[in-house]
Amino acid sequence: MKVSKLAILYYFLKLRFSRLRRSSRISSKMKKSWKKTLNKSSFYADLLQKETPFPIMDKTQFMNHFDVINTVGVKKEDAFRVALKSEEDRDFSPTINGISIGLSSGTSGNRGIFLTSKKEKAIWVGAVLDRVIGFSFRKRKVAFFLRANNNLYEAVNSHVLSFSFFDLKIPLEYQFERLKQLNADILVGQPSILLAIAKRYQAKELTPPFQTVISVAEVLEEDYEKTLSSIFNCQIKQVYQCTEGFLAYTCKAGKLHLNEDWLEIEKKYLDAEHTRFHPIITDYLRESQPIVRYELNDILHEDHSACTCGSQSTILSKIEGRSDDVFSFKVQDEIITVYPDFIRRSILKASPDILDYAVSLSAKDEIKVSLIVKHLEKYEQVFQLVQEELLGMLEAYGIENIHIVKTNYTHDPTTKFRRVRNEYSKSI
Ligand SMILES: [Zn+2]
Repeated sequence: MKVSKLAILYYFLKLRFSRLRRSSRISSKMKKSWKKTLNKSSFYADLLQKETPFPIMDKTQFMNHFDVINTVGVKKEDAFRVALKSEEDRDFSPTINGISIGLSSGTSGNRGIFLTSKKEKAIWVGAVLDRVIGFSFRKRKVAFFLRANNNLYEAVNSHVLSFSFFDLKIPLEYQFERLKQLNADILVGQPSILLAIAKRYQAKELTPPFQTVISVAEVLEEDYEKTLSSIFNCQIKQVYQCTEGFLAYTCKAGKLHLNEDWLEIEKKYLDAEHTRFHPIITDYLRESQPIVRYELNDILHEDHSACTCGSQSTILSKIEGRSDDVFSFKVQDEIITVYPDFIRRSILKASPDILDYAVSLSAKDEIKVSLIVKHLEKYEQVFQLVQEELLGMLEAYGIENIHIVKTNYTHDPTTKFRRVRNEYSKSI
């Protein structure tokens, strides 16, 4: 299913024009057509009629009301069946009534289904062109490493971009030759795969051909960003895109902006300083499956400064991770929360010899640490330092009697790599 060049151009110009006017607010025209869409959804039409405020949705509620929320008559059972089969067969072309089905990541019982129409795809392509890649009539080749090839990305195979899909299920060593031959202009993938690609170019003493490198899906941490930009010799752009929507992107000035041109983003602050928040998104352009006041459990950091690029959209200083990965400990009767950032900082502070790491809360009093160090003979010494740093940081919170245990973590490349994971309990 291809999206016409004209539709892409239309949305590209529309977005460019709206940006020139520097309007980061949702226009009344956009709101009007959004209400029309809501009237096609029995769930929202009912609320509109009763003038009841729209409830905040989480993934569970969103899925519970799937059949009555979507406006295209797709049933949840059918959508799951198609999506799971696509993933199994690695064939992502099947659709229902011309609507593409995407699965969001999550544990098997907690996966979301997201629908995308042809028009929504055109908007997505327009947005990517405008915000991230920059428009050019010269056809550019994109190498895209993905866990699953949602139809959404195939749609970009237009006259201006040609996408080549690389399946994360296949080890990089078997795909590197193809990547090299492709000689792509743009490389897209999650940071862990970008790093593996960068290292392979480096090891083979080859110059990477990419003009633009885009990090998607996982949190791009500072140390990864530095290594990647030095090996690829270009700025690493971030697209914070999930099945729920196109949430943020890196601007020309190198800042990460929330996409507030057609998303209304409410901020549910998580700390007294109003730095960390959960975004609650309302997407004014989504038609097949309205996303209204949908709360994501990602922890975003707000940067209150102004950007030199001229956009007035909120700047994010970072995406910290997901709420599920916050560590929580019981101290007397109180629950103490430790954000992933504090864990990361402690590890990096411990020793410059650490090349990579993974940390997980594995029991109420146990933290597992996996390290990759520069000099193997120093492993024990580095681990000791990490242990001291972590325990010291936790003690400052009044958290004591925690065991730091060595482990050997290997990352399954088809899943998202999270350096800090809570495998013991859900955050409070
Ligand atoms: Zn900017």
